[in-house]
Amino acid sequence: MKKIHRHKTVDSTDYGYTKCVAPEACNPIAHGAVCAVEVCRCGWIRETNRNGGAIEIGAWRAPKPGDYPGILKLLTQVKEEKEEVEGKERDYVL
Ligand SMILES: [Zn+2]
Ligand SMILES: [Zn+2]
Repeated sequence: MKKIHRHKTVDSTDYGYTKCVAPEACNPIAHGAVCAVEVCRCGWIRETNRNGGAIEIGAWRAPKPGDYPGILKLLTQVKEEKEEVEGKERDYVL
């Protein structure tokens, strides 16, 4: 029996705006202020640009080395939780 993993935010950190995070569904007025980076317990991240009331939500993805300062620290914390769910939830849905 398969269980479907749904990405769930376990931690979130605000960074300064660096780039468009959703080229397919761009919301230019959300650019230029804050980029919130959420971390799932599986270790994937999602970036969301926020500017005032406007938001632009990126897709969940695996982090690349050097993506965000501090994200590795978050991932280390998340890893401990991941061990608990390992084997139970293997199928990833974007
Ligand atoms: Zn996940
Ligand atoms: Zn954009």
